[in-house]
Amino acid sequence: MKKRIFSLLLSAVIALSLFSVSYAAETLNEPASFSVSTEKKNPVLKWSKVQGATGYVVYRLNSDTGKYDEIGKTAKLSYTDKKVKSSSACQYYVRAVDEKSKLGAKSDIKNTIAKTSNIEKSDITSTSVKLSWYASKNAKKYIIEKRTENGEYEAVKTTSKTTFTVKQLKAGTSYKFRIRPKSNIGKKTVYGERSAAVSVKTLEIEKTQSSAVYITENGTKYHLSGCRYLSKSAFSISLTEARRKYSPCSVCKPPN
Ligand SMILES: [Zn+2]
Repeated sequence: MKKRIFSLLLSAVIALSLFSVSYAAETLNEPASFSVSTEKKNPVLKWSKVQGATGYVVYRLNSDTGKYDEIGKTAKLSYTDKKVKSSSACQYYVRAVDEKSKLGAKSDIKNTIAKTSNIEKSDITSTSVKLSWYASKNAKKYIIEKRTENGEYEAVKTTSKTTFTVKQLKAGTSYKFRIRPKSNIGKKTVYGERSAAVSVKTLEIEKTQSSAVYITENGTKYHLSGCRYLSKSAFSISLTEARRKYSPCSVCKPPN
């Protein structure tokens, strides 16, 4: 008898799970590859076709309410938002709709804040590096993120400038940095996509940090005090500077 009840229960569970699977399949998928372009006068939204969709509904973040408003419907796979300019910060998502007007899953959220590009690194020392980048369209600030030793990124600075010197780094260590642009729509903070990461290796600590090396009037090498090449002229120079502009002498073998 117990066995019988158990098998009844089991078939009920199976029937229920089959039902929920078929029910879930009725909800339309999210539109994939959703993107927002700011190349034209108005933002142009694009996405991929969703199986079973008869149309798509577009939503834009409202700066007054902080909520998303439905701004339009289309049967196409793109939508131009003519009510706003590409030069303002706007954020969107899109959902498919089926023949019964049932809404599908939400797409990713995308906005008109451009990804940061052309990140350059300069003035690399054993403890710091200067990063510079192009201003991102519609971004008000930039978050500089540094990859930590456990592989995760952490924010090291938020700035409205397009340059920042990251300090307190370890000597002779490889780092990765990336930039996340941000802005605000009303009270809501919105973020653009993160840039690709740039790699930087800090300089090794100088073994003889205080000791100066010497260069000659016209030579391309740097030397230790007492080297025979210094008999005619010898100008003191820091090792850091020497490394940048000269190569080490093969006779007196200064640190390189
Ligand atoms: Zn020498």
